[in-house]
This record gives sequence, C-alpha cells and structure tokens, in this order.
Amino acid sequence: MDVKFENVSLAYEHKNEVLHDLRFVIPKGKLTCLLGPSGCGKSTTLNLISGLLQPTAGKIFFGEQDVTKKDALARKVGMVFQNYALYPHMTVLENICFPLKMKKIDKKKRNERGENLARLVHVENELTKYPGELSGGQQQRVAIARALAKEPSILLLDEPLSNLDARLRVEMREEIRRIQKQTGVTTVFVTHDQDEAMHISDYIMVLDNGQIQQFADPNTIYDYPDNLFVASFIGNPVINKIPFSILRQDFSPIIPMTINEKAETLLIRAESIVPIRDHQEHLGVKLQGKVVSVQRYGHEMFVRLDVQGQELMVTGFKERDLLEKQQILEFTLRTNGVFIANSDKEVIWNATSV
Ligand code: ADP
Ligand code: MG
Repeated sequence: MDVKFENVSLAYEHKNEVLHDLRFVIPKGKLTCLLGPSGCGKSTTLNLISGLLQPTAGKIFFGEQDVTKKDALARKVGMVFQNYALYPHMTVLENICFPLKMKKIDKKKRNERGENLARLVHVENELTKYPGELSGGQQQRVAIARALAKEPSILLLDEPLSNLDARLRVEMREEIRRIQKQTGVTTVFVTHDQDEAMHISDYIMVLDNGQIQQFADPNTIYDYPDNLFVASFIGNPVINKIPFSILRQDFSPIIPMTINEKAETLLIRAESIVPIRDHQEHLGVKLQGKVVSVQRYGHEMFVRLDVQGQELMVTGFKERDLLEKQQILEFTLRTNGVFIANSDKEVIWNATSV
C-alpha cells in the first residue's frame, strides 16, 4: 500500500506548527527511512501515518483511499517502538499470536501462523520463553513478528534499534532489511542515524525543522544532495565546508560564470581529496595544504590539512602517500563529492555533472 501526504501540516494543540506542508509518496513494497536530527518531526510524521495523530491541515491517502479521518485500528498498521513493549507475562509464541487472538482466530491456526512468523524472524527456538529471558535483539525480533501477525497494510518502526549495542544494531538492521524483502511489506523506518538509513533504505526522506529536505534513494542523496543540510547530515566524516572565496581562483577556470557569481560555500567530502598521481577521474585543479595531523584508526587514515587557514579533513590519502614527513601536501579533488552552495544554502553546482 503506498502512502500519500497532500499538503499535510501539524500543530500540537494548535500552538506552534511542527510539520509544514508535507507532500510525499511512500512507495508500496519498499523500505523508506525518515531521517533527521532529534526533534525534526520524524515521530510526528510516523504517528500521522499510523492514525494516532490527525493532521491540522491536508490529506492522507493509503493507495486510493482517503484515510485522513480514520483511526489507527481502521488503518491496520503494524507498529514497533524503541522499547519493545512485549507482554511480560506471555511467552514468545503468545506474544506473537496476541493480535490473532484478538481477531478470534482459532488456536490451532494462530499457533501455526505464529510459528511461521517466529521462523521468519529467527526466534523459533525461543517459543516457550518469556520476554525477560530474551536478549534485546531477540525481544525486538518478537516485537516485529507480533506487528506482522495482523498482516498490516504498513509496518511502522520508530527508532527500533536505539536500545541495542553497536554490533547488535548492525546485525538487526540487516535482519529488518531481510524480513522486509522477504515479506514485501511497505515499511517506514524512523532513525536519526544516517549510517543506519544509508544501509537499510530503498528511499530516504531527510527531514529538518518539520520540512522535507530531500526524498530520494540513498546513493542519490549522497552523490546529489539538494542543499547544505543534506550534504552535511549524510556522510562520515562530516563533509568539509569552506568559504568559496578561498579557492575562487582555482575554481574559476572550471565553473561557469553564473555559478561563480553566486557561489558562497564549497563542500568537499573527505574521501574526495586525493593525491594528484591517482588515476581516478579528477577535477583539473591542483591544490596544496599544510599537514596539521595524521591519525590512523585501523584501516582508516585521517589527515587534517590546513588550506589557507581553513582546516580540511582528508581520508583520500593512503599511508604510502605520506611516507616522508611531508609538511606540504599537494592534492586534487575527485569529481564525486564536490559541491558549491549559494547563500540560500542550495547546491547550485555538482562536480559529478561536469
Ligand atoms: P523526532 O521524532 O524527530 O525527534 P518529534 O516528532 O517527536 O521529533 O517532535 C517534533 C517537534 O514536536 C518537537 O519540537 C517536539 O518538541 C514537538 N512535540 C512532539 N510531541 C509533542 C506533543 N505531544 N505536544 C507538543 N509538542 C510535541
Ligand atoms: Mg522520535
């Protein structure tokens, strides 16, 4: 079931508006992430989809059907939250089957279906245990199975992995991806973690201040950010931002006059700063900076470079590129990951399209 928002706004208790004129379509059968900083309106948007909240203005459609006035029950959504909210006095199987019991499906049938779901989420060996006897990851698997038990029109997950430790988070996000693919259920996944969103999504909606900043697939978001917010929020280490004026002379030969006049900020991803001898395609610019520090963390090497008083983070150099104790480093820029923004913080030039 695809979900469409038409000019949806929301104000809590008719005070300040927290969502402004949202228009989007969440495509059927895909996994879409709502991504943005804390307080930007992700949970509010999710609750509007679920029917727990009603919009102040605008309309919401599930497929062709206008569901704006319908409540959560009528919309048949499945929800999973950060705190798993399992019933502590019920076994794993009873938890998973609970929505089916509410629907008065007979015991044999619902246990059969419950066991299938348990296999899907890989808790088939824990059926008789109680939630208190499970790990966090297992509890979240049970919560997902329970949400799927009622064959929801849409599966909604609000930061479901934030209570898990780092390694388990990575494992569980792969699992959610697998379960979504296997079932084909339209899924909306809320997270503030850009790395999680990049790994799990078919599409990402980037939100800030109750407004959509960009809605596209992960690689488009990374390679073609629409604005400064998206370019900075996605990617680790954070993209380098320097005043364009500092490198205006170097860039003037390779960008159109019209861009040059409006250019305010130069954005360069850390991995796009590379040695000149590299065979990769690069922009015809030759730059240099002074090495401030070099730090290695396992397979990663972070070089801090001072370019005319601006510090750049560089990950495009290998250890062999720094063998001698060089103070001055010559570098160029790859065509991927170099952008220019104007004073309205919109990206107006992307080196990829040169
Ligand atoms: P997120 O999930 O992205 O962290 P929320 O959707 O929870 O953000 O919140 C968006 C904004 O709405 C925040 O400024 C928050 O303080 C406000 N807000 C959230 N819930 C309520 C509520 N029940 N009443 C009033 N304001 C709220
Ligand atoms: Mg939230």
